[in-house]
Amino acid sequence: MVKERLKVTIRCNKCGERYTLRGTVTKGGKLETGFKRCLCDNDKDFKISSDQF
Ligand SMILES: [Zn+2]
Repeated sequence: MVKERLKVTIRCNKCGERYTLRGTVTKGGKLETGFKRCLCDNDKDFKISSDQF
């Protein structure tokens, strides 16, 4: 199965913390990064952007 690899930047809208991760896009077009939550316990309020490698 071929996956698209992306560089994903996740910025927390609550505390402003930024995370840079490697993500993959599954066949269904879902972005997977393995990212669960921010240090501040925020797990849904993020600005996510992705760039192709
Ligand atoms: Zn945060």
